[in-house]
Amino acid sequence: MGADRVFFVGGNWKCNGSKSEIKTLVESFNKDAPTTSDVEVVVGAPLPYLEYTRGLLRSDWGVSAQNCWIGKGGAYTGEVTADMLADVGTDWVILGHSERRNLPELKESDATIATKTVYAISKGVSVMYCIGELLEERESGQTIAVCERQLKALGDVIGSDWSKIVIAYEPVWAIGTGKVATPEQAEEVHEAIRKWLAANVSQQVADSTRILYGGSVSPANCDELAKKPNIDGFLVGGASLKPDFVKIVESYK
Ligand code: PGA
Repeated sequence: MGADRVFFVGGNWKCNGSKSEIKTLVESFNKDAPTTSDVEVVVGAPLPYLEYTRGLLRSDWGVSAQNCWIGKGGAYTGEVTADMLADVGTDWVILGHSERRNLPELKESDATIATKTVYAISKGVSVMYCIGELLEERESGQTIAVCERQLKALGDVIGSDWSKIVIAYEPVWAIGTGKVATPEQAEEVHEAIRKWLAANVSQQVADSTRILYGGSVSPANCDELAKKPNIDGFLVGGASLKPDFVKIVESYK
């Protein structure tokens, strides 16, 4: 974790939960997690539960959506705009998650994700911008090149203000598999991401942007990962659906 960057932990509930399950989980977070300005915490709820979650959740934690439409509203059946997210008090949105990039039903492109990101921040909704390589890309030595391609897609359209962005590096082979990247594997990519920001955006953006690791993060492995200088927090899937998500939140210490 870097000295001047506030540690960040995002929970991604994905397509899980019900009102009663969310109530139980949020009540445990409200009771058990520390109150501190040393960590920023955001939970990503399914769309129908965003306002419900916001209403129950402690005020020092934020709420995130997991996707939104590419631009302003209109005749786009089934879609939800960043304007609407902001209107119901949603602080964040997760964009470019590997499931949205890779599921055959979705197949979102780098360009679509970058355009969505710029639109969301223009409406005041901050973005967890997810990047990461597939297993075959890692095995063929393309990890850094893939991450740089996904960063460049955003760099091409965003301009110089990255203050509403956190980057989540999530190797696809580690998501939901129980196969976490080693601290060394994660740190190598995080360092490359920070170097890319310094070379292609600015040193100030490289120094201030939080870079999260995601992929099978758990209470058992978070502390070792959090020690690395370029790992500024986590994006957590499965383990964010359990009360001991709080232990991951506490890995800022
Ligand atoms: P996981 O998911 O923690 O269940 O591996 C991470 C993510 O998809 O963001």
